[in-house]
Amino acid sequence: MKKFNTLLEAVEFAVTRCNSWSFATSNDNYDVKGLLVLAETSDSENPMDEDSFYVVSPAGAIGLCEDGEDIYWLFLSDAAPNEDLPLTYQAEPQIKFCSKCGSGVVLGARFCGQCGTAL
Ligand SMILES: [Zn+2]
Repeated sequence: MKKFNTLLEAVEFAVTRCNSWSFATSNDNYDVKGLLVLAETSDSENPMDEDSFYVVSPAGAIGLCEDGEDIYWLFLSDAAPNEDLPLTYQAEPQIKFCSKCGSGVVLGARFCGQCGTAL
């Protein structure tokens, strides 16, 4: 799943995955052009704060994650209307550092890959 700072960026990516969407809370449908126009309007009227972002699912559904809360899915992909959409955004693995040798290790790893110290 990818993360975007504006709805327009999310839509520009989503159009590579599918070409029509249903609004999650009504029966409105959007084609590529309609969704791009809506995104431009939305971005200019509702600028995002820095803790919020949009996500695009593998099938092209578009969700909003506001202030690190659960994802609110806005537009469902017509290509996969029953797609299993996650409620939380899984960030890319983060790096932390070994307390003994200082090497970068993937968060969640049990041992340092350099010196073997248990983390
Ligand atoms: Zn180490």
